[in-house]
Amino acid sequence: LTSRIAGEGTAAWDIHIQALQRRAQGEEVTILSVGDPDFDTPTEIVGAAVNSLRNGHTHYPDMRGSLALREVIAEYHRNQGVKDIDPQNVIILHGAQNGLYAVAQCLFNPGDEVIIPEPTYVTYEPAVRSTDAKIVRVPMNPDSDFRLDPKLIEAAITPRTRALMLNSPHNPTGQLIGPETWKKIAALCKKHDIWLVSDEVYAELIFEGEHLCPARFEEIADRTVVISSLSKSHAMTGWRLGWVMGPRALIDHIFNLSLCMLYGCPSFLQDAAVEALSKAHPELDVMKETYRNRRDTVCDTLSESRWLRAVRPPSGMFLMIDVRKTGLSSKAFSQALLDNYDVSVLPAEAFGPSGAGFVRLSLTVDTEQLREACRRMDACAREHSITPVSA
Ligand code: PMP
Ligand code: GLN
Repeated sequence: LTSRIAGEGTAAWDIHIQALQRRAQGEEVTILSVGDPDFDTPTEIVGAAVNSLRNGHTHYPDMRGSLALREVIAEYHRNQGVKDIDPQNVIILHGAQNGLYAVAQCLFNPGDEVIIPEPTYVTYEPAVRSTDAKIVRVPMNPDSDFRLDPKLIEAAITPRTRALMLNSPHNPTGQLIGPETWKKIAALCKKHDIWLVSDEVYAELIFEGEHLCPARFEEIADRTVVISSLSKSHAMTGWRLGWVMGPRALIDHIFNLSLCMLYGCPSFLQDAAVEALSKAHPELDVMKETYRNRRDTVCDTLSESRWLRAVRPPSGMFLMIDVRKTGLSSKAFSQALLDNYDVSVLPAEAFGPSGAGFVRLSLTVDTEQLREACRRMDACAREHSITPVSA
């Protein structure tokens, strides 16, 4: 077996896998350890996939993605303010995950340095490592709600830096990069001649503020690559439909990789994706509003806790909860919560050292269950707390 492919990301799911096993054995477990929407894909999108199959779209697809879909995606990014893009700047792949891997393979050479703020989504590191590039982690400060600090990014840049990989809205923290920070980042990428890889899978899940696609900054459009998908925006995680948008030469290069790896995404998925992106689906407005209410429920409920603190996220579908006052590591807290209170959350240290002392909770059950889960988390924290509590 090659050493380039390693399983660093898999350990993060340990608690989640335990929770799934318990549920399979008939135990009642509230699973808040995975970011899979508890909403169905809108019916019209499902209908488009069914019609596509019925209409005989069962042959090899256009291997870059259908022109209709790439046009709709180019239009989506033009509406975000990105200029001068057309279908040639887009390739359709199997989910954002496939996009991340393809971009890493097509952009990074052995010895390159890739700056990644941490905590970070767990598959970034193995995807980058598989290219023999070196990962340079930049911490996000838990005591500033995990906001990205461009000064720390600049300090990490060396002559070998090839790229900066960012994710906004962010998994696991739910943080959103604001316009001023984006401007500073754009200036850094231009000044130091580095690529910006922007993972935007949560772009449509905004509670406060605005998502900004950095490809709209014209001075870095030639070095910005955007990865996105329908997984979270349209409750389509199981469909595996994503894309990469970027400079033509890079997209052509990814096409070469895709040809020998994928041979195109199934046509019925692409036809459904055109339906998804070319009109509004009211179910999705309900979904977004529901996430917001759930976020508020968790923050309100935990605001009464003496031991736990929720970091209020402006976006995404996750929440970080500070468990440091319990004196337990986030791993020990998550295990105790699952073992004794039947709730699963992920220890955020699995996402990087700055996540130590925090757990990640997904907003994927209804408000009543979330309220109950918060009560149990508080009870678990109280049981283990080593901090003397003043009256
Ligand atoms: N990036 C981030 C930050 C994620 O959280 C995920 C998981 N949803 C992905 C990429 C992969 O997304 P997809 O389901 O489209 O492959
Ligand atoms: N991205 C989602 C999460 O962070 C789902 C990942 C997965 O199912 N492996 O939970």
